[in-house]
Amino acid sequence: MLNLIFLGPPGAGKGTQAQRLARRFAIPQLSTGDILRRAVADRMPLGKQANALMDAGKLVPDEVVNGIVDEALARPEAERGFLLDGFPRTVAQATALDEMLARRGRKIDYVLNLDVPTDVLVDRLSGRLNCPKDGSVYHLRTNPPKRPGLCDRDDTPLVQRPDDKPEAVRRRLAEYENKTALLTDYYKPRGVLRTIEGVGTPDEVEGRIVSSLRDNLTTGPANP
Ligand code: AMP
Repeated sequence: MLNLIFLGPPGAGKGTQAQRLARRFAIPQLSTGDILRRAVADRMPLGKQANALMDAGKLVPDEVVNGIVDEALARPEAERGFLLDGFPRTVAQATALDEMLARRGRKIDYVLNLDVPTDVLVDRLSGRLNCPKDGSVYHLRTNPPKRPGLCDRDDTPLVQRPDDKPEAVRRRLAEYENKTALLTDYYKPRGVLRTIEGVGTPDEVEGRIVSSLRDNLTTGPANP
């Protein structure tokens, strides 16, 4: 069982790397952003509540996302482990996650913190294209799809996320600085935090993550 969290600002590559690691380790990727976007697309009540906040680049209330994660952790596929991408984003969410895991007799193995400078984040977000169906992430310049505008895997037309527009990007980076960056202090004392240089190709970054996990998985976590 492997219970992982991805931390890092918007555009750090959490979604891209989470998708790769989920396949590699055969554990589910639990992305609160993807789940919320699906709820918006499907016109679910949850989506109606979250839509305007998301488009503006603001955080959705803790109780809403906590409920989503609690439900996702209850699914049978999460018994093998999970990879959380985009959650927790506040200290209150991190505390709630600890309670959800404790209730199930589980704990976090590693928190992977992707470190990327702000100018690179802004460049990545402004050229980003997403597959609304399978969550694949592309970039107009650095990682274009094989056929322009179409997902390589399922031919779905790619979209730019409304919150990847400049105004919302600024707000999301501010939300990260004000509320989420503090989480490194929350996890550091437990010895589970691994900060990984997030600049480079997706393959390079994945290689760094896997070697940091391999080193730790063979020697065991610092604080078992
Ligand atoms: P993401 O795809 O992770 O960048 O998330 C997109 C948007 O969904 C965020 O800007 C928030 O509006 C909302 N969201 C996703 N995860 C969370 C979370 N853990 N807490 C609050 N809002 C979230």
